[in-house]
Amino acid sequence: AKGLVRTYEVRQGMFGRATPVRAVDGIDLKVMPGETLGIVGESGSGKSTLGRMLLGIDPPQEGQALFEGKPMPKLATPEWRALRAKMQFVYQDPLAALDRRLTISEQIGEPLAIHNLVPKPHRETRVAELMSAVGLRPDQAGRYPHELSGGQRQRAVIARALASRPKLLVCDEPVSALDVSIQAQVVNMLRDLQEKNHIAMVFISHDLKVVRNIADRVAVMYLGRIVEEASSDVIFKTPLHPYTKALVSSVPVPGKLLQGRVILQGEPPNPANRPSGCAFHPRCPLAADICRTSVPQLLSVADGRTAACHMVTRAEASVAA
Ligand code: SF4
Ligand code: MG
Repeated sequence: AKGLVRTYEVRQGMFGRATPVRAVDGIDLKVMPGETLGIVGESGSGKSTLGRMLLGIDPPQEGQALFEGKPMPKLATPEWRALRAKMQFVYQDPLAALDRRLTISEQIGEPLAIHNLVPKPHRETRVAELMSAVGLRPDQAGRYPHELSGGQRQRAVIARALASRPKLLVCDEPVSALDVSIQAQVVNMLRDLQEKNHIAMVFISHDLKVVRNIADRVAVMYLGRIVEEASSDVIFKTPLHPYTKALVSSVPVPGKLLQGRVILQGEPPNPANRPSGCAFHPRCPLAADICRTSVPQLLSVADGRTAACHMVTRAEASVAA
C-alpha cells in the first residue's frame, strides 16, 4: 500500500459545515507472505479504515493499495470479486459475519461452493478439515450460530475465511469481543494457522498484549498516521516515539514492576480536531515549540525502525554526528 489517504466528511453540530477529516493520512505499508503486521492505536486512530483500504473495501482517495504487486481493482468489479477468495477479513463481531439461518458447516462450505474451489463430493471432507483446524468439534457442524459460544463463532468465521486459502487475512479486533480467558486460545490458533499456511496477516488491535503475542512487525497509528514502525521485539523492548512509549508502558508485564511508566494525558485522538504540527503534541511530555508548528516525517532510524518525532530524529542526528 502506498500513500493511502482517506477522508470523510464530518458535520459538527446541527448546522455545522461539513469538514473533510483525514481518517488515514498518507500511509505506506507492506506485508509479506508468512508475516503478521500488527496495527495498534487508540480508537479514532484510523486503523479500521486502513484495514478496509488494504482490501479495497474502502478505496483510497489518494495513493494506491496493491495486492501481489498489482493495483487493487475497484470495489465490486469482477476483477475485485475474483480476488476476494485470496483476501479475507475477520471482524470483531462473529455474529454479524455469520448467517443466522445457516449451520456452521454450511457457512464454512459456502465459499468452497461460491468460488467453486473444491468439487462437490469433496466439500464435506474439506469442511471437516477446516473445522478441526480451528478447534471445532465434528458434532458442532449442524449447529446454528446462536447455539455456539462467542469463541466458537469466531472460530467458525476464521474457518470460513480460511476455506478459500487466502493470501492475505485482515483481522480487525478479532478477539476484543471475546472473554479474556479465551482470547489467547483464539490468537494462538490464528498465529499457528497463519504460519502453517504462509498467509500475510494484518492484525488490528487496541490491545498491545494481544498484538505482542502475534505480530512480527508493529505499526503504531495516531490520528491517521503511522508514528512508529519496527519489529515487534524492538517496539516492545525499546519504544522510541513518546506515544509508543506511553502505550507500551501501560501494558503490565507479569512479575515486573512498572518502571518508567508514562501515563497518557489529555483528550484521546479526535480525527475531526487534528492538532497542528505533530498531532500528538497536546499529550506529549516532550513537546517543544517545533512540535506545534511542524509535522514530523516518518524517517528511518536505527534497528530497522521508522519513527515520526522531532525529538527522536534530533537524538539520532546527534548520535550520528
Ligand atoms: Fe512529542 Fe514532539 Fe515527538 Fe510529537 S514530535 S511525539 S510532540 S516530541
Ligand atoms: Mg476500529
